[in-house]
Amino acid sequence: MSTIGFIGLGHMGGPMARNLLKAGHRLQIFDLVPEAVASLEKEGAQAAASAAQAVKGVDLVITMLPASRHVEDLYLGQGKLLKFIAQGTLVLECSTIAAESARKVSKAAAEHGVRMLDAPVSGGTAGAAAGTLTFIVGGEAQDLEAARPYLEIMGKNIFHAGSAGAGQVAKICNNMVLGIQMAGTAEALALGVASGLDPKTLSDIIAKSSGRNWATELYNPWPGVMEHAPASHDYAGGFGVDLMLKDLGLATEAAMHAKASTPLGELARNLFALHSAQGNGKLDFSSILKLYRK
Ligand code: NAD
Repeated sequence: MSTIGFIGLGHMGGPMARNLLKAGHRLQIFDLVPEAVASLEKEGAQAAASAAQAVKGVDLVITMLPASRHVEDLYLGQGKLLKFIAQGTLVLECSTIAAESARKVSKAAAEHGVRMLDAPVSGGTAGAAAGTLTFIVGGEAQDLEAARPYLEIMGKNIFHAGSAGAGQVAKICNNMVLGIQMAGTAEALALGVASGLDPKTLSDIIAKSSGRNWATELYNPWPGVMEHAPASHDYAGGFGVDLMLKDLGLATEAAMHAKASTPLGELARNLFALHSAQGNGKLDFSSILKLYRK
């Protein structure tokens, strides 16, 4: 049994922490939202009064925060959490953030003698609850081996993408494809329906032809085509438009840094920005179909 300091108990962090508790680990938890702490405290976690308290005397630190600024603020800002983490401790930073931020925090951690991995996840809230997340890890191989037993409790697939920041780069490359693919699928379905086709028939045809993709196989954006998909439930739950917009923005930042050209990623970012500006930020990202549908 290990003692784990877990900070950030939102949609993803909450269920990830719960799985570690269920596996018998001792958790010291902290979140800015008291309700998020209270529900895990009932299940046996120790509530800490601050992030600094949560990392006191632990074997491992895990953070799952919204975006780059939260991560940089926590580790490097006024409270400078790094000062409170014992030398040699392993830190798993699981938030999806800019690769540059991940490298910056990881470099500062190394200067404090703290071993940090960027370990963003794929698999959504359902994967977090089921313990089947994919972890895309950047950092030292031996640190990943030390983290593996914990990652295997929270996830099913674990990839080593490369050195610090590489996990974030791989994660946003994946999400850039996802955003482009979803917008493209919505566009094609809307064209077919506007031309008189039935959306289910067209989806079945694409799913068995060369245009098939994750959206047509598992996550169709047209309401009623797939019973379990968010599209058939008023686009509730799933992966929010604003989270997709954030990830496409990170892809743009990475492209600027690498002097890479990402015209389709940038177009997808603009489509999701437009869709969000129309008040759809909290809907599932497959609701991008609304932009095309008559
Ligand atoms: P969330 O907003 O539900 O949770 C974030 C939590 O962090 C909140 O409870 C917030 O109070 C807490 N927090 C923020 N700053 C803090 C601080 N300084 N100290 C303590 N707690 C703090 O977000 P989420 O959906 O759990 O996503 C977390 C990360 O995972 C994001 O980077 C997101 O992009 C990524 N992600 C999300 C999904 C998804 O489907 N939701 C899927 C894959 C990856």
